[in-house]
Amino acid sequence: MERLGVRAALVEGAEVPGDVGVADGAIAAVGLQPAGASGLAVPGFVDLQVNGFAGVDFLAADAEGHRRAREALVATGVVAYQPTFVSSPEDAYAAALAEVAALGDGPGARIAGVHLEGPFISPRWPGAHDPAHLREPDAALADRLCDAAPVTMVTLAPELDGGLELVARLVARGVVVSVGHSDADAPTAHAAFDHGARAITHIYNAHRRWVARDPGPAGAALVRAGVAVPAIVDGVHLAPEAVLGAYLAARERFCLITDAIEAAGLGPGTYRLGDREVHVADGACRLADGRLAGAVLTMDEAVRNLVSYGVALADAIHAASTAPARLLRRDDLGVLRPGAPAHVAVLDDELRVTRTLVAGAEGFAA
Ligand code: ZN
Repeated sequence: MERLGVRAALVEGAEVPGDVGVADGAIAAVGLQPAGASGLAVPGFVDLQVNGFAGVDFLAADAEGHRRAREALVATGVVAYQPTFVSSPEDAYAAALAEVAALGDGPGARIAGVHLEGPFISPRWPGAHDPAHLREPDAALADRLCDAAPVTMVTLAPELDGGLELVARLVARGVVVSVGHSDADAPTAHAAFDHGARAITHIYNAHRRWVARDPGPAGAALVRAGVAVPAIVDGVHLAPEAVLGAYLAARERFCLITDAIEAAGLGPGTYRLGDREVHVADGACRLADGRLAGAVLTMDEAVRNLVSYGVALADAIHAASTAPARLLRRDDLGVLRPGAPAHVAVLDDELRVTRTLVAGAEGFAA
């Protein structure tokens, strides 16, 4: 049994003093004495929405690009993630999906499956998506995309013609459907959840606004049991009050995501998101017209941001690991207890990642 040398571990939401033992890729023991001098072992992070990372745009990435991104992501505590594709022409999807389908399990963070953000989204709320690439719900196209690679999540606008039928079709395929880039009113969002949708995409960004008598998809998602509420907590997309309000409503359903683009981990400059040009300055990613276009956030930074807003560390870790794992119905992720796979991040006292294990294998060590 290998020991991690940590002071404590976060086990099912509670801090257990003592070291952690790992054997055969799994957690063998917690609470071991003597404990290490420092370091907190936590469940490794699960990023539901990441468009690119460390100079790699997933829509354009080859195998080598995916490898580089995995190794950069694991250094931020991520053990599993969904490469996320913005609305694109079908041939661009086909090429990108084929790359993912051909990837094996390499070193670094693991791909949980692809998140298709679009193309069945509202022209009223395209965000950074190219309006030319948006499509009306099209079951045959959805089937072709989902057949090309393991697609685990689709963001769509259920108010579009055929939207609710598409929700049901994707759910029947085992895909997690998330309401986003949507002009749905609250009753339509509830109808999508009735049809099996289980999340909202980046709450408060790029969907119908919440006003008193028209709370839109955000209002429906926040009050709806079982619906996950991912948020981009980068200090740019959401005011702290918006984050805390959503967190207090959603609690264990609240998820941290990065929505990162290839600029994440790099400096200011000009980058790509699909076929769009994005300018990065002062921690914000914007199109030429000023619209936000993804983020340069990392999961560990999102955890630190949420804690800085007053959320307890255990709850912030839950939002970065357990909550997204539950949305994906992955019992092997987001858990740290004896017998579980050793997908572990080790944090120092400043909540910086010093080490990441993926199934017990060293993914990153500072
Ligand atoms: Zn988006």
